[in-house]
Amino acid sequence: MISLLLALAIASPTPSPPPSPVPTPIRVDVVVQAGHEGRPASCARFPHHRCDLGAKGEVQWTPVVADEVTRVLRAHGVTVARLPADFDGRYVADAAVFIHFDGNDKPCSTGASIGYHRALSLHAAHAWRAYYKRYFPFRFMPDNFTDNLLDYYAFRRVKTTDGGLVVELSEIDCPVQRAWTAPRLLWQGDLLAHFLSTLIGRGHVPDPGSFK
Ligand SMILES: [Zn+2]
Repeated sequence: MISLLLALAIASPTPSPPPSPVPTPIRVDVVVQAGHEGRPASCARFPHHRCDLGAKGEVQWTPVVADEVTRVLRAHGVTVARLPADFDGRYVADAAVFIHFDGNDKPCSTGASIGYHRALSLHAAHAWRAYYKRYFPFRFMPDNFTDNLLDYYAFRRVKTTDGGLVVELSEIDCPVQRAWTAPRLLWQGDLLAHFLSTLIGRGHVPDPGSFK
């Protein structure tokens, strides 16, 4: 009897899988991050990140835009991971936007800009520049004009197939850009939702057109 049980145990082993050292990435259509959101409280848990708090007022504005992008995309059936500045896990998405506003010691020396890490995001970057430039009346900086744009930390945690972009929507240390931006946060979110929906070919979010 014992030998029979032993034989059965050997014949039908049920080993448990070893724990995976790298957690399985979370799959969504789009990742939307509000730059600096949750800091400085979250910084202690992520000591390997620089605890960058952003330009003055930036952390109040990025969640407004990010929440609107998320709301519109979800209303059109697009799945969204809505992330703060510091987050656990890894993501695989069709597209990602990391929303920021620029700041500068010399006010009004910059404007809108785009950052990306890989050549596959080039098409997305060109498309966003062409689209946002229709409406943004100030300076548009060259792509990846700072190392922070080119090598944004979250690129390592979010892989995309159609493009992952840091978008700086204006320079908010610049009084005229700040005044232009203040009433337009939800509209900027609507522009991004339309742009992302078009980029990934899902959701068919209509173009909001000019700010009204
Ligand atoms: Zn920022």
